[in-house]
Amino acid sequence: MSRLSTVVVECKCGKDIFKYQKAGTGRLIKCFLGRILEDYISLPKHLPTGASVLCSKCGERIGTIQLIHGAPAVKLNQGQIQPVRIG
Ligand SMILES: [Zn+2]
Repeated sequence: MSRLSTVVVECKCGKDIFKYQKAGTGRLIKCFLGRILEDYISLPKHLPTGASVLCSKCGERIGTIQLIHGAPAVKLNQGQIQPVRIG
């Protein structure tokens, strides 16, 4: 069973994006929508695969919606977020 850590994903501009329950250790690569505890950017309810997720403050692209193992997730744009690493 993997450990869950609560992390805050933050845009490079300083805006908080998500509070997220990350499983396991290592770098945060993706955020499954079902494990987002707080959504600070008011994501639309239904996002199609391939949709961009934008920072509500600076408008830069935080990530892209992808299906990962059948579950919708935000694949993070590592260049636009503050690095998150556990362990
Ligand atoms: Zn931003």
